Amino acid sequence: MNVGIVGGGQLARMLALAGYPLGVHFQILDPAADACAGQVAPLMQSDYHDEACLESLAAWADVVTFDFENVPAEAARALEGRITVYPPAEALALAQDRLSEKTLFWEMGIPTPTFATVDSLEELQSAALRVELPAVLKTRRLGYDGKGQRVLRTAEDIEPAWRALGSAPLILESFIPFEREVSIVAVRGHDGATALYPLVENHHRDGILRLSRAPCGMPELEREGWDYARRLLDRLNYVGVLAIEFFVKDGRLIANEMAPRVHNSGHWTIEGAETSQFENHLRAILGLPLGSTTAIGCSAMVNGIGDLPGRAAVLAIPGAHYHAYGKTPRPGRKVGHITLRANDADAVQAGLERLLPMVGFSPDEFS
Ligand code: AMP
Repeated sequence: MNVGIVGGGQLARMLALAGYPLGVHFQILDPAADACAGQVAPLMQSDYHDEACLESLAAWADVVTFDFENVPAEAARALEGRITVYPPAEALALAQDRLSEKTLFWEMGIPTPTFATVDSLEELQSAALRVELPAVLKTRRLGYDGKGQRVLRTAEDIEPAWRALGSAPLILESFIPFEREVSIVAVRGHDGATALYPLVENHHRDGILRLSRAPCGMPELEREGWDYARRLLDRLNYVGVLAIEFFVKDGRLIANEMAPRVHNSGHWTIEGAETSQFENHLRAILGLPLGSTTAIGCSAMVNGIGDLPGRAAVLAIPGAHYHAYGKTPRPGRKVGHITLRANDADAVQAGLERLLPMVGFSPDEFS
């Protein structure tokens, strides 16, 4: 079985690592010669628009998938004309644009922040009156990890935010003073079977995910999130892993965004669930039976941003699992993650108290 992956970052790398035991072969397409998935699978270094490379990937692979959602929609559609592509290019296109994504949520009765489209300073001024400040101005496309965003607290923030972001189509959404951030990672197979991982609680700093805890309890919210995820998967006729990020406000979920791929808040599943999100994504796109998404005890996943603490110190913590992505350290870059797995939440917390100072946080930072 041959899987082509468009995009060669850590998600492609972890997909390949999960696929080898199943006897799957990989080829990775990425413009960067040093794409980190290239350390574990053959890399075709090429632009995403290169017809000849897309053709040769399609000729070799049984199915093509993606490691990030900003693959040019034309490249995804060009591939779809030649070979099976999962998730479907339509889901990819929807998730690439915050406006179409939020409109879909709204149409399906999934709560979102109030939002308005903004293409001029005048539109931003009138949107600010409708949405009401504080609000968050975001680029509709290519935003991730908090990039391409400005919080507008007062009317004075409107013009500077427009000057910073106004060269691209924008969306203004109400600022949610959330109690927590959570996510659901879900998977759907060829046959429409779905499997849902436990609700995950996420902590961000500077727009970047730092810590995920799973399972995080909160069974009512989990049921609500599973219901939204199931309906989205069916509506998109989806195949593969889909992640949805939510704010929790007044004990209800408000959808922030979805990612049509394996997700950072699902990395804990490698050690913390019966079947990892990476293996389940491959099982789904290859038409294999999905694996159990049941958690094995409790897990916490901490991202290595900029660099990773030393292996020896981390591995001295009971239940610690070290994942280096083979990337050159650089400020703000996700270069690895560490998962702590234990039989109960107290033991995970004890491990976190040792681990968090190693990544620059106080031991009680996220309690
Ligand atoms: P995003 O790129 O949309 O996932 O945003 C990154 C992070 O910024 C989120 O995880 C939140 O912590 C914060 N954020 C984004 N949108 C909002 C919002 N409407 N209200 C409050 N916080 C937000």
